[in-house]
Order: sequence, then C-alpha cells, then structure tokens
Amino acid sequence: FFITLEGGDGSGKTTVLGRVAAYLQNHSMPYRITREPGGIEIAEKIRSIILDPAHTAMDARTEALLYAAARSQHLAEVVEPALKDGITVLCDRFVDSSLVYQGYARGLGIEEVWSINRFAIGSRMPDLTFYLDVDPEVGLSRIAANQEREVNRLDLENLAFHQKVREGYQLVIASDPQRIVVLDANRPIHMVEQDIVRTLQERILK
Ligand code: C5P
Ligand code: MG
Repeated sequence: FFITLEGGDGSGKTTVLGRVAAYLQNHSMPYRITREPGGIEIAEKIRSIILDPAHTAMDARTEALLYAAARSQHLAEVVEPALKDGITVLCDRFVDSSLVYQGYARGLGIEEVWSINRFAIGSRMPDLTFYLDVDPEVGLSRIAANQEREVNRLDLENLAFHQKVREGYQLVIASDPQRIVVLDANRPIHMVEQDIVRTLQERILK
C-alpha cells in the first residue's frame, strides 16, 4: 500500500507517522517511512534549495517544478521499488501538497500544477491519504513550541497564507473524497492516532 499524510504546517504529520509505523510493525507488515520533498540524496538536495531561507527570490513556477522534480526522483528511487517488493510506503506529503501550496496558495492554479505533476508521477497515486486538518493558529503555535524543527523559508509566511493552504486542502479533498480521510488535528495527537488506527483496521487489514 501507498499511504500519504497531508496537512498544514504544525498539523502533526511527522509525529503521527511514527505511530502509524509502530502499528504496521505490530501487525508484521513491512513498511518504509519517507518524506517529501526528500527521502533520498537527490531529492533532499532539491529540498534544501527550495527551503533555503536565503532564497527569497524563488519564483513560484520554479518552486513548483523543483517539487515535481524531487517527487519523480523519489518515486523512481524509493516508492516504486518498495511497492514492487510488497512493502507499504508511508510518505509525509505527496502531490496534494503541491496542488495546495503551489497551485492554490501561491496562485499558480490547481490544474496547471496537476499538469506538471502528471508528467512527474504518471499514474501513481496513494491508496489512502490522511489529511490532518488544523486551525492555522493552532498549527503555528505548535511550530513555535517545537525547538527541534528545522527552520525553513515557509516559516516566514503569515497566517493568511496558512489559511489559504487550509482552503486549498478543502478543494483538493472534495475532488477525491474516497481516497482522502479527513481528521480533526486540533485535538491532542493521541486522539488523531486512534482515528488513524481505526481507519487502517477497516481499509488496510480488513
Ligand atoms: O513536510 P513539512 O511540513 O516539513 O514541509 C516543509 C515545508 O515545505 C513546509 O513549510 C511546507 O509548508 C512547505 N511545502 C510547500 N509546498 C509543498 C510541500 C511543502 O510549500 N508542496
Ligand atoms: Mg513535518
């Protein structure tokens, strides 16, 4: 299975992913955890170009193309080989993030960003996606409290940008409600984890 996590900044994706992994481990399901943009050397390098706080001049189209480039490399090198071997892949962000951040929040257009991503990913889509819906004010305060988090260029964005991100996710979810499970991530993380485990029981281990 190919399972992805989506959500605004500070929604708890990375934390929750560790719990999903523990669950799969307990059920003896081989898995691999990875993240976008990144996961492997080439894609991590692209990630650092995108997120470098010094790159304030980066054009939105350049950003969208770099994300798509990192994504195709990550698919070719990590995701596809693992799925072929029957390994479940848990990925922190995937194409939905690009549709939302670059397509909607940066204003490039969801359909335009789809078109470059169709080239990057072919027909590969997640079997299941968890969307962690968080109020941007809650998300940003979690980020401020997390000392270990890497600093990135997006941290400079204001509340309005994050509100746009949340709006963008509503649109993308509406276009694929079967695949995307929405979870209220304003609650404590352990409650989100319980919902995820329940969904995995119903949809993956059935
Ligand atoms: O996954 P994570 O939350 O660590 O993402 C790193 C940063 O990249 C975040 O600030 C996120 O908002 C941003 N991002 C983006 N466009 C994407 C994916 C992530 O702006 N397509
Ligand atoms: Mg994260």
